[in-house]
Amino acid sequence: MSRDASTACLYYLALYSAIMAQCKAFGCYNNKRANPKKHYFMIPTPSNPERTDLARQWLHNIGTGLSVDKFTFGRNSFVCEDHFEKTCYKRNLQAELLGEPCGRIRLTETAVPTIFVHRPSKTEKSKDSNREIRQETRSKRKVRDVYQYLLRIHEPR
Ligand SMILES: [Zn+2]
Repeated sequence: MSRDASTACLYYLALYSAIMAQCKAFGCYNNKRANPKKHYFMIPTPSNPERTDLARQWLHNIGTGLSVDKFTFGRNSFVCEDHFEKTCYKRNLQAELLGEPCGRIRLTETAVPTIFVHRPSKTEKSKDSNREIRQETRSKRKVRDVYQYLLRIHEPR
């Protein structure tokens, strides 16, 4: 393999893994590499009828357009924290009372993502969510820049 070709392979591999490790919500490009400080939550796997309903609701809300049977559940199917209302999180009362860091952020058993760029939250139209939308636009721009860069360096001369 020529050096150019192997460099191209590496770029595509990096791009592929970036896309795979990205939030599955429609229009969101947050990923663990570029936004490591964000929390990411696995899409519930349909292990029993109750979980199947929950999984269906998640898939519908995040706009995958896929049914529970068609969607690939697993390590790379997660949604970032930007899509959850504050009420979705479990509170760590002990830590709150003692003024300690809350540790790992966890969702309640029935939490469903409801905040999206294409469908902003109805209950939280605060400056906060506006800022989140702006940040998402910025990360979207970043992904577009990477694509354009890749296209440019691989253009036939
Ligand atoms: Zn997201």
